[in-house]
Amino acid sequence: MTDSLTVAIIGAGVTGLAAAWDLARAGHRVTVYEAEAEVGGLAAGFKGDGWDWSLEKFYHHWFATDRDILTLIDEIGQSDKVLFPSPITSIWTPRGNFPLDKAVLPVELLSRAANVLRIPDLSLLDRLRFGAVGFLLTKYRGGLSLERTTADAWLRRWVGDRAYRMLWRPLLIGKFGDRYDQVNMAWMWARLYKRTARLGTYRGGFQAMLEDLAEAVRRAGGTICLNTPVERITPLPEGGLEVSAGAAGGRFARVLSTVGPGLMLRLAPDLPEAYAARARALQSMGAVVVIAALDRQLMADGTYWLNLPAVSPHKEDNPFPFLALVEHTNYVSPEYFGGDHILYLGDYVPPDHEYFRLSDADLAGRFLPSLAKVNPAFSRDWVRKWWVFRAPYAQPVPLVNHSAHIPAMQTPLPGLVWASMSHIYPWDRGTNYAVEIGRRAAQMLVGP
Ligand SMILES: Cc1cc2nc3c(=O)[nH]c(=O)nc-3n(C[C@H](O)[C@H](O)[C@H](O)COP(=O)(O)OP(=O)(O)OC[C@H]3O[C@@H](n4cnc5c(N)ncnc54)[C@H](O)[C@@H]3O)c2cc1C
Repeated sequence: MTDSLTVAIIGAGVTGLAAAWDLARAGHRVTVYEAEAEVGGLAAGFKGDGWDWSLEKFYHHWFATDRDILTLIDEIGQSDKVLFPSPITSIWTPRGNFPLDKAVLPVELLSRAANVLRIPDLSLLDRLRFGAVGFLLTKYRGGLSLERTTADAWLRRWVGDRAYRMLWRPLLIGKFGDRYDQVNMAWMWARLYKRTARLGTYRGGFQAMLEDLAEAVRRAGGTICLNTPVERITPLPEGGLEVSAGAAGGRFARVLSTVGPGLMLRLAPDLPEAYAARARALQSMGAVVVIAALDRQLMADGTYWLNLPAVSPHKEDNPFPFLALVEHTNYVSPEYFGGDHILYLGDYVPPDHEYFRLSDADLAGRFLPSLAKVNPAFSRDWVRKWWVFRAPYAQPVPLVNHSAHIPAMQTPLPGLVWASMSHIYPWDRGTNYAVEIGRRAAQMLVGP
């Protein structure tokens, strides 16, 4: 083993906790600083009155291919808490929800939707091209090379303009808004390549998993300081780094930061300009959700995930003012939530979008009436309680040739490593990849 080092980790999200787990077990003296009152970051949950389980602030599930997080849960001895129900995914149409049996790969979803919706302009040739291209993408192993072109140009070329406009473009618009035509094709490939039909969760909710992981870190000797925002990371002339965090700060041989690019630049102003410029150039979308606790089920067909078609980056042109409607209690039983039926009304928007400026009541007022399009009997008095959560840094936007533009995890400041969602590529960010990157960062910190 390398000599025992003092290591500070900034952020007790999945990345920070996964790194802390490896480092503490290897005998290093680890201190995790977390600004919030609880561990978990973007995957954290909360508990409403009378609930036994916590609920993720933003909808979360795992895929069966999420090997890194499932392995970590196994290592901390909690595998028996992982559940893999098979919820129903549907697509909304003006004639009602079209359920797609169990959750299926997006490509199957779209090809079946293409048939069922009987889109008049879609010829047999369009459908064949659409199906063949989707199938080949799920089998193709060298998808990173597709980063040289945009998903917009690539799909338009290979599936044809009509099928692209009707089927793929709505997905891109839903996730990236008016930047939908700038995202590279490797990102789309990676989504198709990795997704599975079964969707996983944790008994008690993701927060329970994060607390089990935090407890395992503490048992291995790590310290987690909650409610302790780091203000600055400063390199020391004699080597090592100073972490300023009020009375809890200190000097460390190594530091791992897991925060987003904007915050990283503020915390480490000594980063050389060439590196800082790369961090500044990274783009991302924010996420907003309205969560509603209803006194009854909304989607009686059992749909968990309802895809809502976005035909335009302008919200007002779309049938719904948000991207996805998720009835969580059609996935896990309402009995864990005191009988409440839980809905997420979620969307991705740039951090300067008005959805970040509207009051909670105004945002809920914009979103909730749309539930009547899904169940015409819906009335506002079904809503027992609602909550709003917003995250300005939620979804990195990978542009063309993105791999050449990602700042290295090993920063130019000796001993300082940075591992954030923006370093995950070509895979779509997720807790599985947060574990992978956290463990990789841990090795970099103490490696030769
Ligand atoms: C809408 C949405 C849906 C998602 N769906 C899924 C899903 O279905 N499945 C899935 O696996 N993943 C999903 N994800 C992604 C997943 O949440 C993230 O990939 C993962 O949680 C990122 O973990 P992280 O530790 O890298 O970052 P974060 O969770 O952002 O952790 C960073 C931590 O740093 C802390 N921090 C910030 N500033 C400071 C400071 N100055 N000092 C100390 N601490 C600080 C923050 O409070 C936070 O706890 C989703 C994310 C969003 C937004």
